[in-house]
Amino acid sequence: MIAYIEHFVHGNDTESKPDDDVSGLAANFDLGATGIASKDFGGMKSFKPLALIMPTTTVDVSQAVKAAARTSHLTVAARGNGHSINGQAMADKGLVLGMRAMEDHYFELIWVDGTPYVDVSGGALWEDVLKRCVLQFGLAPRSWTDYLSLTVGGTLSNAGVSGQAFRYGPQTSNVTELEVVNGKGDTLICNETQNSELFFATLGGLGQFGIITRARVMLQQAPDMVRWIRVVYSEFEDYIRDAEWLVALGEGDGFDYVEGFVFVNSDDPCNGWSTVLMDPQNQRFDPVHVPSTSGPVLYCLELVRHYSHVDHPSYVDMVVDRLVGELGFVEGLKFEVDVTYMEFLLRVNRAEEEARSNGTWDAPHPWLNMFVSKSCILDFDREVFKKILKQGVGGPILVYPLLRNK
Ligand SMILES: Cc1cc2nc3c(=O)[nH]c(=O)nc-3n(C[C@H](O)[C@H](O)[C@H](O)COP(=O)(O)OP(=O)(O)OC[C@H]3O[C@@H](n4cnc5c(N)ncnc54)[C@H](O)[C@@H]3O)c2cc1C
Repeated sequence: MIAYIEHFVHGNDTESKPDDDVSGLAANFDLGATGIASKDFGGMKSFKPLALIMPTTTVDVSQAVKAAARTSHLTVAARGNGHSINGQAMADKGLVLGMRAMEDHYFELIWVDGTPYVDVSGGALWEDVLKRCVLQFGLAPRSWTDYLSLTVGGTLSNAGVSGQAFRYGPQTSNVTELEVVNGKGDTLICNETQNSELFFATLGGLGQFGIITRARVMLQQAPDMVRWIRVVYSEFEDYIRDAEWLVALGEGDGFDYVEGFVFVNSDDPCNGWSTVLMDPQNQRFDPVHVPSTSGPVLYCLELVRHYSHVDHPSYVDMVVDRLVGELGFVEGLKFEVDVTYMEFLLRVNRAEEEARSNGTWDAPHPWLNMFVSKSCILDFDREVFKKILKQGVGGPILVYPLLRNK
């Protein structure tokens, strides 16, 4: 059964029509509207739904979609954690399904041909998937996003990209099976061979082809620790050459994570030098090292090497030093820390806490993601980073290489 419907009653906003009657779905109604379904992280769009439905099972999802399908006009949107930016998880006078209500509905380790997978709910947060997989099985998914308070269904509807994507592809390339409620309200299992059109349409389908109620996610052995390194470049050509070299190295030969960002060559606390430090209490960015020929922006390559407790520290040093020794970053501008694998993957939580405490988390978040081909990236740096964005954007400007074949 559907746990409850939060029925939005805002004067004329409700505009109920006879065939809007979805009340038959509900175990009970909460007439005190929360408004959560008309907000998202972007803070730039707001659409009031007719109702926010909290499904606790796949059958609830199916019933809700069927109820909407019986009407001539009700739209349905799945809402994961509402961290999209342009109202994608909203339904104007329609039904919003709060998928986190079924976050614990599935959690099962499965072995297929000697490879481990976990079956998880589409409404599960990735940070919970991480914690449960590592603590219960010593295993973890292979491909991540930078920030993990996002749902499985929410990122699989987009792509799910981070510093592991150069090796394993986006998160959408790391699931082998979905349970999906389609637009008719039918529940289908889909994978590469069974209902394959639905499978490939739903992955990266922006929630338009069906609602993901379960996903089978590939796992690997979780490392215990990571060496987390940031090195600074003053010349974009050097930065991009090293980044492209690193992502072309084979598994085991290089780093397990490669990302990077552009920052302003100044002491601006929000956009400048200090944004490079992972441990500001114990690290200091000394601008004396920045070459006098540097431009308005600098570049930081962010690298991680996994290791386990049984690896000898000198072995980890040797592997990392050999790789870092090949890089042409600015001398004196290398920063590193050793943290647990979980601390590393949950690193953005610290930034979230700070942003929540200073109010910027609730500010509007315009956001642009784009792929730029290798042949244009130097022009992009010259025109966009060095000119348009030379004073920063008041937030991160990530730039890192991906391989087309992933
Ligand atoms: C701080 C922050 C950091 C981020 N970092 C990264 C990053 O490093 N890499 C990256 O790739 N992205 C990143 N994102 C973007 C993020 O992956 C997407 O915005 C994602 O859609 C958010 O997930 P969500 O659970 O909040 O989804 P929502 O915003 O709730 O929904 C997003 C879309 O997915 C649909 N949807 C949600 N659940 C389901 C479901 N179960 N079945 C079908 N469709 C569904 C919705 O209808 C909507 O269209 C970041 C976002 C934020 C706010």
